[in-house]
Amino acid sequence: MTKPNRVFNFSAGPSMLPLSVIEDAAANLADYKGCGQSVMEMSHRSKEFGKIIEDAEANLREIMNIPDNYKVMFLQGGGTLQFAMVPLNLLRASKKADYVVTGSWAKKAYQEACKYGDIRVIASSEEDTYTYIPKFSKDDIRPDADYVYVCYNNTIYGTHFNEVPDTGDIPLVADMSSCILSEEIDVSKFGLIFAGAQKNVAPAGVTIVIAREDLLGFADKKVPTYLDYKIHADKDSMYNTPPCFPIYIAGEVFKLIKEMGGVPAMHAADVAKAEKLYNYIDSSALFKGPVAKEDRSLMNVVFVTGDAELDKKFVAQAKEEGMVNLNGHRTVGGMRASIYNAMPMEGVDKLIAFMKKFEEENK
Ligand SMILES: *Cc1c(COP(=O)(O)O)cnc(C)c1O
Repeated sequence: MTKPNRVFNFSAGPSMLPLSVIEDAAANLADYKGCGQSVMEMSHRSKEFGKIIEDAEANLREIMNIPDNYKVMFLQGGGTLQFAMVPLNLLRASKKADYVVTGSWAKKAYQEACKYGDIRVIASSEEDTYTYIPKFSKDDIRPDADYVYVCYNNTIYGTHFNEVPDTGDIPLVADMSSCILSEEIDVSKFGLIFAGAQKNVAPAGVTIVIAREDLLGFADKKVPTYLDYKIHADKDSMYNTPPCFPIYIAGEVFKLIKEMGGVPAMHAADVAKAEKLYNYIDSSALFKGPVAKEDRSLMNVVFVTGDAELDKKFVAQAKEEGMVNLNGHRTVGGMRASIYNAMPMEGVDKLIAFMKKFEEENK
């Protein structure tokens, strides 16, 4: 097979997938492992797909070390539907929940939850354009809150929680859409974790939900059936037709991570990539990182020149060199290099070399 001519895609999502997974999926596309049909066509109730989804769950449990009292679900609707499913299921006693607003995704989640209960913001960095993770303590949380909500990695602003907030006995809910499988996480410290797949796992279409069992089963009778976690948990994500193909690719990625040394190996590679890039930015006279150093994300590296026209020129020239989607989010401008697990060091090296050349040419 000739080597495909691929760009380095620095998009925040959908983003790069491991080439070996894409090529293996391509080789099995028309005839998946000799069963005469593709995963896109087969029944979700077939023996073949049954094995795909069971293996995907087992491998995810293994690489994330998910305790037995947690359910794993493969759902649709993206991270966005979780903004509603979380309150619809977890506002189960006082109907109060406390939110930490660290970016646009956290704010959207907060606004959605406000439709369903007594929701309060206990910490926010909105006034400083979300350039850091605001501090809060257990004392800021209402003692009868049904849960506390955080967005663990802020994809747009490039910030990340560097330790799990202590919420005592109150379940902690975390949106890990853009950092799942990039660091070891003690799942037992969370009530619920969710992640849309298209950042670090698979193509868009599947959302992973990991939920402590005792938190399920409290949705109001009027909650649509599909939005009740308990339904999906009891049916092993087969209540209705699941997103078969994205689940298959997610499963292949989980297998690959296992083969490569698990999440610790991913983390080590992610740290090496991010450190190289941040070190260069810190040494540069042209590029600046607006994020508080201690809260920097390993996955989404935000930087600016301070000149919007120059930023635009950078993004356009990088594209010509085969490095695409380096523009910052449309709401913040500047640049953002998303360097998820599947971005090879080669891509980061090429980016840094280009940044140096650009700096030299635009002094
Ligand atoms: C991308 C993203 C979302 C939204 O995901 P969709 O699948 O597009 O709904 C939510 N939260 C975070 C942290 C994200 O990065």
